[in-house]
Amino acid sequence: MSGGEMGGTGANVAGSSTLDIPANRGGAPASHRPLGILAALPQELGDLIEAMRAESGVRTITHGQRDYHLGTVHGSPCVVTLARVGKVAAAATVSALIHAFDVDAVVFTGVAGGVGNDVRVGDIVVADALLQHDLDASPLFPRFEVPLLGMSRFAADAALADRLAAACERFVAEEGAASAARFGTREPRVHRGLIVSGDQFVASAAGVNALRDALPDALAVEMEGAAIAQVCHEYGVPCGVVRTISDTADDHAPESFVSFLTEIAGAYSNAILTRFLDARKAQG
Ligand code: SAH
Repeated sequence: MSGGEMGGTGANVAGSSTLDIPANRGGAPASHRPLGILAALPQELGDLIEAMRAESGVRTITHGQRDYHLGTVHGSPCVVTLARVGKVAAAATVSALIHAFDVDAVVFTGVAGGVGNDVRVGDIVVADALLQHDLDASPLFPRFEVPLLGMSRFAADAALADRLAAACERFVAEEGAASAARFGTREPRVHRGLIVSGDQFVASAAGVNALRDALPDALAVEMEGAAIAQVCHEYGVPCGVVRTISDTADDHAPESFVSFLTEIAGAYSNAILTRFLDARKAQG
């Protein structure tokens, strides 16, 4: 396939497959359009790309220094990619998912720091809303508000959030105790609510307390979700964000984050996404 077949986006194609997922052809029926799945770091995707390779084969398209993997996972056509870290990286990647790959919805999976009082390492947070905690154009605009858009909180798609939370609850019911024993965490709890995003790895008691003071209902902090939610809002694309808690954004965060990411994050991601995609297939 040449760049021209990608609608002149200049994308490069590697790998091979017989798939023909339409790119940038907005007229495709919703059921045939792929789901966009993204994470920041490879460990956060678990075995998703291997599962795609086994099920349908993978076609990889490189675009804007990101690899987009096209194929079918658990019966759903998907485009899977890594956004890398931070709001700009996330916004650029989700914009390409929408424009070059015509996704009908976006799901972000990854890890985050726990901020809510009862949000511990090993818990899971499904976003109902997302906010950029480092956005501050005051006094011109209220703190946290995106200038000219007049919004600070971006809603996740309610149906997607319900399905992600149901997948998480099933994981906890079926494997929560075994997972806690295996990883030395408490039995996971599933929380729903506000996730806040900013271009900082929050790793101090002062930093996480400042977030709690400014945003008392924040459950988790990470670096991509609210950027994705803003872009999806602006283009009318449903989005969902699910985050496993790797640390509690305090002085222990760097070690806790690294060990959770390398030892646990992939297993959680596999467990949640498998159940989410199986249910999506059943719903047709
Ligand atoms: N160089 C590191 C970068 C990780 S930054 C690496 O590649 O290993 C942390 C990532 O995990 C971000 O993608 C962010 O979304 C999430 N995250 C986990 N804990 C966080 C915290 N306490 N503060 C901010 N982001 C956090």
